Amino acid sequence: GPAWGRQPDWRDGTAWSEEIRAELGHFGADYWIRPEESSGTALGAIGVLESAIEEIQPAIALGPATSLGRDQLPHLAARLGLGLTGDAIGVEMDPSHGLLALKPAFGGQLVAPIASRTLPAFATLRAGVLDRSEPDRNRAPAEILEFGDEETLMEPHWHDFVRETELGGVDLDQASLVICAGFGLGGDEHMAKVTRLAEKLGGVVCGTRRVCDLGWLPRQAQVGLSGRYIGPHVYLGLGVRGSFNHTVGIRRAGTVIGVNNNPKAEIFAASDLGVLGDAPAMLEALLAVARG
Ligand SMILES: Cc1cc2nc3c(=O)[nH]c(=O)nc-3n(C[C@H](O)[C@H](O)[C@H](O)COP(=O)(O)OP(=O)(O)OC[C@H]3O[C@@H](n4cnc5c(N)ncnc54)[C@H](O)[C@@H]3O)c2cc1C
Repeated sequence: GPAWGRQPDWRDGTAWSEEIRAELGHFGADYWIRPEESSGTALGAIGVLESAIEEIQPAIALGPATSLGRDQLPHLAARLGLGLTGDAIGVEMDPSHGLLALKPAFGGQLVAPIASRTLPAFATLRAGVLDRSEPDRNRAPAEILEFGDEETLMEPHWHDFVRETELGGVDLDQASLVICAGFGLGGDEHMAKVTRLAEKLGGVVCGTRRVCDLGWLPRQAQVGLSGRYIGPHVYLGLGVRGSFNHTVGIRRAGTVIGVNNNPKAEIFAASDLGVLGDAPAMLEALLAVARG
């Protein structure tokens, strides 16, 4: 929402606070849990969540498997003595086991459902695996519940908050067009062109693991089992083989277009539109016709 990312002003009734309450309510939240006093530290936030979980005793607690979530939520699980299924790719409800957190196993050959022996069942979910819910603008704003942070183990200092942006400046998770660079593009020298094409078309660049292993693109651009899960309207794979370990990351994509010079390439099985041909030549051709 528009209010996220601004410097928080905790006073009730401020425009910032009301905007957040309304936005949370529209997206289905009944409560907004926040600190009585913001210490601004990671451990302070864990302390607040710890108090909230002890007080509310929810059946399920879910958090994001972002770098922040991966850093902080295992601390929280340890402090509450809870198990934690980290980095799940989905969740299901089971009548006898309650929450099942889905984890890829054996290189993605199977998905293991993990039930929790402790309550609340606690899992972190990889960004992009859940569909974005439609806001209900008639829903009431979330109520504020404030908790104190328990004594912290140590006090780190919060210097600055840096938002990581993707190549092209747009979030890979939010992008409606994603162009994926595969090893079949042939070399590092094509990456600037892929980025230029994405910019012209208002999209974002991602890569296969092989391309990221080679350093042609940064690691955060990797899509697939050990990378990001994305759901753009259009995915264009240039010289991507289409191994399961990659295509598992584009299951939510709308139209998948694969360009490969091998008619047997697996990407064609995952594509709505397949182009049998040379990926660098296709890149040049698209650059020539793309406006912007
Ligand atoms: C546990 C595990 C986790 C993994 N996680 C991921 C992951 O998160 N993401 C990921 O991407 N991979 C992942 N992998 C690796 C994955 O299995 C593949 O090895 C990788 O995706 C292959 O990358 P690629 O398609 O770019 O390269 P390649 O396999 O080398 O394929 C290149 C393709 O380009 C085609 N080609 C060659 N020249 C041209 C040309 N001139 N024009 C058009 N096409 C051409 C070839 O026919 C080929 O199909 C994982 C593997 C394991 C075991």
